[in-house]
Amino acid sequence: MRVLVKLGGSVRAGLGGEVMRVFAGLLAAMLGNSPAVAQTILPDGVQTAEAKMGTQAGLEAWVEAFRTRALEAGIPAASFDAAMRGVEFNPKVVERDRSQNEFTKTVWDYLDTAVSEDRVALGIKALQKHQALLERIEAEYGVEKEIVAAVWGLESAYGTYRGDLPVLGSLATLAYDGRRGAFFEAELIAALRIVDGGHVENFTGSWAGASGHTQFMPSSWEKLAVDFDGDGKRNLWGDDPSDALASTANYLRHWGWKTGMPWGLEVRLPEGFDYVQTTERVVKPVADWVALGVRPATGGELPDHGPGSILLPGGARGAAFLIFPNFQVIEKYNTADAYIIGIGHLADRIKGGPPIAGTWPRELRALTLEERRELQALLAIAGFDPGGVDGRMGPKTIAAVKAFQKARGIIPDGYPSLEILMLLR
Ligand code: CA
Repeated sequence: MRVLVKLGGSVRAGLGGEVMRVFAGLLAAMLGNSPAVAQTILPDGVQTAEAKMGTQAGLEAWVEAFRTRALEAGIPAASFDAAMRGVEFNPKVVERDRSQNEFTKTVWDYLDTAVSEDRVALGIKALQKHQALLERIEAEYGVEKEIVAAVWGLESAYGTYRGDLPVLGSLATLAYDGRRGAFFEAELIAALRIVDGGHVENFTGSWAGASGHTQFMPSSWEKLAVDFDGDGKRNLWGDDPSDALASTANYLRHWGWKTGMPWGLEVRLPEGFDYVQTTERVVKPVADWVALGVRPATGGELPDHGPGSILLPGGARGAAFLIFPNFQVIEKYNTADAYIIGIGHLADRIKGGPPIAGTWPRELRALTLEERRELQALLAIAGFDPGGVDGRMGPKTIAAVKAFQKARGIIPDGYPSLEILMLLR
């Protein structure tokens, strides 16, 4: 359960003066609710403006002020002081926060790692080893064992890499760093309650404060973790994965997992397909997609799993997927399309399904954060609202790219490539 944080800070320098002023103004307007970021725009235009890195002394001062709020939230003073003593600022956490893989890699590079042959093979092994457990979890929560195994596989390599950073230190660093301070402060308070309750001994996790076999955030532990092995503890951190795997199934069920329904299905689109329809916003019954010539990548006829949308994570030259409501349920773990496809496809492969049949435009490189922000700013200047200049290629930015492509007579697949950026420049 990595947390996707809107990236604030850097914008590229080097645009012409006039454009730059418009750009700076737009940026300020778009980021108006985020003073910490707006302040980074200097009067003489947009400079490097990478948000300033904090310090240990800065963190300690922040903890001092935070103590009052934590005590007001019910954390006992002695417990707070014991837990927060020696908490360290970790600049690596801030760096990671600014460069998340799901958003900085192309989808094919991400999937090469996320669904590598090794991870598939280890998943099949893990499923065999824990078959009885995963079947009991599936029976109780209605989430297929391959999906639970895939989350485990992607979040911690089946329990191998659960993270060794102190959770309190990571959360304090991110709360103090401030881009989503309120969110991380709430998670830190939840983490302090977990420590105060004596629920965890060695509270370590990954950089964003997620921990355990399936990387739960503290607030998710409070709301949705379960004691599946019945020992009275909701233990996501020990070597036994029972509670963590059941908690993941409970989490997915809570967000509406539909038993027996696929997350998605790789498809082939016919020649002359109208790419304006390839968006999560266009949902059609399978019969309508069939009528438009959409076929499974493996051949034959599309099975009827109810209404779905067509997704092109690598643009018109990459693989196409018909996605169903369970796609949006996996999204509750992590909003990146690449991650969701990674979970779904890994589960399919663990179940014995084939690799992705479609090819990817591997000659294209991923846009850098600066380029993605520039793309958004230039789209806005050209009159296509990207929904913000945050470097995240979310639904609004993709819709803006599509509208721009359509206006230019290019296949409107919404893929934010370097070619599109060049055209906008
Ligand atoms: Ca337990």
